[in-house]
Amino acid sequence: MKNPFHVMLIPTLGCPARCSYCWSSEPGSPVMDIETIGEVVEWLRDFPQDRVTFTFHGGEPLLAGADFYRRALPLLAEGLARMNPDFAMQTNLWLMTPELAEVLAAYHVPLGSSIDGPLEINDRQRGKGYFDRTMRGYRIAREHGVRVSFICTFTSESVKHREEIFRFFLDHGYTLKLHPALPSLRNANPEPWTLSPEDYGDLLVYLLDESLTNLGGIEVMNISDLVKCVFTRRGTVCTFADCMGTTFAVGPDGSVYPCYRFVGMPEWVMGRVSDRPSPDDLAASDAGQRMYRFRELVDQSCGECRHIRYCRGGCPYNAIVPTGGKIGAVDPYCTAYKRIFDEIGDRLNREMEERCAVEQFAFPPDPRKKPGKPGIMSLMQQMISR
Ligand code: SF4
Ligand code: SF4
Repeated sequence: MKNPFHVMLIPTLGCPARCSYCWSSEPGSPVMDIETIGEVVEWLRDFPQDRVTFTFHGGEPLLAGADFYRRALPLLAEGLARMNPDFAMQTNLWLMTPELAEVLAAYHVPLGSSIDGPLEINDRQRGKGYFDRTMRGYRIAREHGVRVSFICTFTSESVKHREEIFRFFLDHGYTLKLHPALPSLRNANPEPWTLSPEDYGDLLVYLLDESLTNLGGIEVMNISDLVKCVFTRRGTVCTFADCMGTTFAVGPDGSVYPCYRFVGMPEWVMGRVSDRPSPDDLAASDAGQRMYRFRELVDQSCGECRHIRYCRGGCPYNAIVPTGGKIGAVDPYCTAYKRIFDEIGDRLNREMEERCAVEQFAFPPDPRKKPGKPGIMSLMQQMISR
């Protein structure tokens, strides 16, 4: 199976919000012009992939305005029709207007937005007024038929209120995607908010339990992805797959980076779209070579780990933060990944053994026994039927 090909387009690093733990906002950042989108089309024209997903990310991508998207979306969709482009956007929705929603709806662009739980918890870490502005944009998007899901960032502070946050998503019928507050190379803001690997592991196990208890009532996307990884023995999201060579980001000035988290750091520029670098040129760049060194390091450092096939050492960006940008260790969230992969793998094995015993010895179920909590197999059935 081919790895999905993903190009993140970063129209600007600017953002009108001022979230306390954010590392990806740069006041006064320039905004991408439409000529750069034309260059992206020319750059990718000879790439071998037959599918591509473009994600508009930031900063805040809606700052580019309706006219930018009215021109950018058809340019990409028609110019690269051979690659069957899909689109997505990550936005805080503050700047959503009916005009923008119409353009995005016409190209079926699903939106990922950010809400960290109920108003008080959200605004304590994202800033006063954030919740209401995002919800206003959410309503406009929904009125125009645009699909919106929410990412919830758990910080060292908000994780203390995990029950309340989970209940908020469950009661509103929102799909929950969790994001841990992470340290960054670009900005020291996140440091005090960062979730420790131990807390992250605990949180994932808590969410696994809650997903099973509330099966059918809520989808926790991270849990679905983690179960898929263990079951298929293959990384199904970028953190748990070799992202080098299959993911790139294009910054506002047309520079190409390994992913959005590197945008704005000159030492991680792999080339420029206007020079039309081929996949081999990008791999041969200094930044490309560093990314591939991470892959070699994982083969050595994680060689004995039973999860290596579907974890692949986690995220290379997370791995280089503690060393100031040098490739020297795998993702420090390894403890959290091992904890949740062990939990899913062990539960799955137990369920399989129990099922085999029932089938082999044909014991009828004991009618006096209360039905237990749904297990990982039930979660998988739910995912398949969805
Ligand atoms: S560097 Fe990390 S966040 Fe970026 S694509 Fe790779 S795994 Fe994903
Ligand atoms: S769980 Fe840890 S040791 Fe295992 S593959 Fe992932 S990062 Fe490496």
